[in-house]
Formats: sequence, C-alpha cells, structure tokens
Amino acid sequence: MLRPEPESIEVATTPTELATLEGRNISAWFGDHQVLDRVSLTMEAGVVTSLIGPSGCGKSTFLRILNRMHELVPSASLAGEVLLDGEDIYDPSRKLVDARKHIGMVFQKPNPFPAQSIYDNVVAGLKLTGTRISRDERDELVESCLTKAGLWKEVKDRLRAPGAGLSGGQQQRLCIARSLAVSPRVLLMDEPCSALDPTSTRVIEETMLELAHEVTIVIVTHNMQQAQRVSQQCAFFLASQGTPGAIVEHGDTEAMFADPIDPRTFDYVNGRF
Ligand code: ADP
Ligand code: MG
Repeated sequence: MLRPEPESIEVATTPTELATLEGRNISAWFGDHQVLDRVSLTMEAGVVTSLIGPSGCGKSTFLRILNRMHELVPSASLAGEVLLDGEDIYDPSRKLVDARKHIGMVFQKPNPFPAQSIYDNVVAGLKLTGTRISRDERDELVESCLTKAGLWKEVKDRLRAPGAGLSGGQQQRLCIARSLAVSPRVLLMDEPCSALDPTSTRVIEETMLELAHEVTIVIVTHNMQQAQRVSQQCAFFLASQGTPGAIVEHGDTEAMFADPIDPRTFDYVNGRF
C-alpha cells in the first residue's frame, strides 16, 4: 500500500550528485523457496530509507539484491529490476564491479580486514575498482573518508595500526570509511548498529545523518527509535504464514509511526509482534 506523498521531503543540498535507487517488482527465490514477492520500492536521493519488519521477511535479501550480492548464492534466483538513476544495475553489459562501486554496503558485524592497517582498510576498495591515484591524493582520501565516518580524530595518530585493534563501534566506522573511499552513490546498511553499544550507535546515527547529504542511504533496522531518528522514509516488510516477504506499507516515517494505514504496521511499530 503506497502512502500519499508527503507535502515536502527534506532533500539534502547537492541533489545533482545524489542518486535514486529503485527496486521494481523484485521477486527472489532460494531454490524453490520464494522469499520476496514483487517488491517495489523507490529509495530517493538525499533521503534515508529504513527497511523494517520481523526476522525472516526478506529485508537482507532485498538489500543484497540492490547490490548484486544475491547472485553470488548459487541457489538464488531473481525477477524484477534494480535501477540506479534509471540504469539497470543487472544489465549484462555492465561489469559487476562497475555496478558495485556505486553501491556500498555495511553489514551487521563490522568486517574490516583485521590484519591490514587502518589506512590500508580505507583504500582497499581502490584496488578492487582499479582506481589509481597518487600517494598525496590517497592520504587526502583517507583523511576525508575517516572524517566523514566520524573516526579521524580517534585514529589519525595510528593509521598504520591494524584495524583489528579498534573497538567494535570504531571498526564499524572504519567499514563505513572503506565504503566511502570509492565514492558510492548509495550506501546500504544491514543492521549496522545491532552489534554495537548505545554510545557507538549514537555516533553512527550522527554519521549517517551527515552522510545523507552526499549519499543515498538505505538502512535495515530492528530498532524502531532508530528508524524514527535517522530516516525520512520507511518500508514495512512482512512474510506472513508462509507467504513470501512483501511490503505492507511504505512512506513518510513520521506518518507511518504516528498513524499507520495497515493494522499490521500498527501492531509491528508498537511492538505487538
Ligand atoms: P531478514 O533479513 O528480514 O531477517 P532474510 O532476507 O535474511 O530476512 O531471509 C529471508 C528468507 O530467506 C528466510 O526464510 C531465510 O531463511 C532465507 N534465506 C536467506 N538467505 C538464504 C540463503 N543463502 N540460502 C537459503 N535461504 C536463505
Ligand atoms: Mg537480515
């Protein structure tokens, strides 16, 4: 069910560089098991979109489809389209790495390369994308990405120390910095704070709100307060009684929490299942 458009969405300042990501009629299977049924969702430029819903309703699968990770699972298949500013990221003429570098991903469990230095972690994506820049440019990039991820001040004197030496919250911010280094247009975050303490969670939320000015953000979260703090748009996924996951309701976050259209959304956002 689509909510009526809110009267105004606060859009961040540099809209020309921001991308809109659109999933169209996405259905997904693992073998014969269908886990998503015709999910359509537009994740608007300059807006943080939250995906909420009970475990197992296909949120992570949907997020991975947005980044072509779904196709790495041999049993997985898919129907539908994913459009980044109108261009199909599954276009066979498009190289996987080209599609991916525009769409960064951060996972629940921070996964920096543990033995690599903080510095090398940040620039790791440049090798994968074949980006060549000078030593000075690399230094600047490391500083700017760590600053955007809210980590620079804490690590600037130990850039050569291994990523594994950081706290969980710092490691997650390092992962965000690593994603940013290839200048993604969209950042997908799958429960990025679930493994973190409340203080680290707050820092990451503040980082997200800042980043939303330059990258389109999609976050999966089980934390209803978090969805309300960070996102302007929200989609509620549900897979009820053996049916595949689908979107029950999406639209303006404030409206969805204050006055949900569907009774199932009401129950979920009020912690009733
Ligand atoms: P959520 O993130 O909402 O908890 P998921 O997208 O992880 O849900 O899972 C949706 C459904 O797909 C679940 O039934 C899950 O068991 C199944 N699933 C997820 N990943 C795989 C996989 N690699 N192989 C088989 N089934 C999977
Ligand atoms: Mg999940």
